[in-house]
Amino acid sequence: MGIRPGVVTGKDYQAVIEAAKAGGYALPAVNVVGTDSVNAVLEAAAKAGSDVVIQLSNGGAQFFAGKGYPDATEAKVLGAVSAAQHVHLLAERYGVCVALHTDHANKKLIPWVEALIGHSERHFEATGKPLFSSHMLDLSEETLEENIALSKAMLTRMAAIDMSIEIELGVTGGEEDGVGHELVEGADNSHLYTQPEDVLYAWNELSPVGHFSVAASFGNVHGVYKPGNVQLRPEILRNSQDLVQRTHGTGHNPLHLVFHGGSGSEPAKIAEAVTYGVFKMNIDTDTQWAFAKAVGSYLRDNPKAFLHQIDPDDGTPYKKQYDPRKWLRKGEESMVERLQRAFADLGSTGRSAAR
Ligand SMILES: [Zn+2]
Repeated sequence: MGIRPGVVTGKDYQAVIEAAKAGGYALPAVNVVGTDSVNAVLEAAAKAGSDVVIQLSNGGAQFFAGKGYPDATEAKVLGAVSAAQHVHLLAERYGVCVALHTDHANKKLIPWVEALIGHSERHFEATGKPLFSSHMLDLSEETLEENIALSKAMLTRMAAIDMSIEIELGVTGGEEDGVGHELVEGADNSHLYTQPEDVLYAWNELSPVGHFSVAASFGNVHGVYKPGNVQLRPEILRNSQDLVQRTHGTGHNPLHLVFHGGSGSEPAKIAEAVTYGVFKMNIDTDTQWAFAKAVGSYLRDNPKAFLHQIDPDDGTPYKKQYDPRKWLRKGEESMVERLQRAFADLGSTGRSAAR
């Protein structure tokens, strides 16, 4: 191998994906909301010796710029740019390859993605690299034809600056930052399964234009729900791969697939999905929980430090305990630990393509 560590885009990003597929592993794609979570992901990847994907939802990007920023629309753009610049500066020093993505953008959020592409175009002109490796366009609420036509137009612009697109076919259950479908418990959830014919259509339209990945639905759900609600059927991914391979005479697993709603999934189903060409598994709920759980337990261990600056009984100063670095660090450490499990589940531990 031998890819330079740091943010990977274009051919380097595709080489990281090919390495994962050839090596039979996948990378976690972790949603971040600030430098704390970004640094935890970088630390976790370096510790595991794995490459990783860092991504922002539109809400995460807004939070990155500051919830108090007066213009929310602008904050979603500036926050994503700020996060990307932070990652570009640091990723290389952590010694692993990092792909930068944005998460679900429905039709309403197309202007957000377009503004970010504008920033990448300027970054490309200045440095030869886009700011982001890939953006996701989730038009699964539109007709298949419209979904693919709009994605194709977007990819045409992105491919010119070495960017990749992630599209969604079928519906990932649950909701991510206001995009997606609330899961109706016990309802007929047949819309949660992607049709292989739709995937073939996407391949036919997009592969001549540029690099793309597909979030295909196989019963995966955002968030963590009680078990038994939806059946994970990873074989749907295999059927899509087989149809494209048969139709076009490609090699094995031609599609680059993305597993959304990875939180709470059984390791065996994750491993099975990886054998069908999944190279990226999104994880958010489980890393949020890891962060919160550790902060919660720190608060329980040091209750007085969060009520008094100085102990009212014996005058002990609590500055050392309430210093945000103390409890934010607990959250980071717990996130780093949870991610070691994600790398292990996906088989990427020790497999970084960076040299
Ligand atoms: Zn998702």
